[in-house]
Amino acid sequence: MTGLIDSPSIDILAIAAHRDDVEQTCGGTLLVQQALGWRTGILDLTRGEGGTRGSAAEREAEANAAAKILHVAHREALDLPDGSLQNTLENRLKIAAVLRRLRPRVVILPYWQGRHPDHYTSATLGYEACFAAGLAKLDLPGEPHRPYKILYASLYADVRPSFVVDITPHMETRLQALLAYRSQYGNQPEGSGLFVPEEDIRERTFASARHYGLLAGVRYAEPFVQKEVSLAGDLMLLPVASI
Ligand SMILES: [Zn+2]
Repeated sequence: MTGLIDSPSIDILAIAAHRDDVEQTCGGTLLVQQALGWRTGILDLTRGEGGTRGSAAEREAEANAAAKILHVAHREALDLPDGSLQNTLENRLKIAAVLRRLRPRVVILPYWQGRHPDHYTSATLGYEACFAAGLAKLDLPGEPHRPYKILYASLYADVRPSFVVDITPHMETRLQALLAYRSQYGNQPEGSGLFVPEEDIRERTFASARHYGLLAGVRYAEPFVQKEVSLAGDLMLLPVASI
């Protein structure tokens, strides 16, 4: 599941700082897209060696278990430093190389503001890597490729989303993917002031998804921000009731 060299292209690639970030912010959406027939993938920028709980090896096993639950076609992790992610040329090139290999049409990044520096740094780093991957004269293997659409998963951020994705049929599976990270969510004494007990995860996950679902008149949803405006073809088909 990790580091496949000859993997065929991916339609939708979710990029995040830490293993389990994607599960927390857009796992349901990856399930929706996979069910629609698209090839989904995850690129974790770090390996979790800086975390309070669990080793990098443990987190790799958990990430692969979660990837199976999310039915992603591909998952890999770069070796950027966990806890001190920097937007450097070297790091942009590492991500750009993956983008040229996987050639996603849609890239999902973390929202560009937040509490954890790794999260908001990933947003800018990821965006600039998408730009770099399309530069013909960049000294990097592979054909130039630039994703068509860049979306920001905003569940960590308290901002109004541009749109939400209805994940209602996948809600339970989404939770199971998150719970695959036993080292993070198990009920254990180490870091207990910092980590949420497992029984609270279900409540938080469902409550948050319910909140975003209510904004659009569906049961459970995940929020996204896009920097572009939306384009309408037929006003008669616009979703979400106004009153
Ligand atoms: Zn994180």
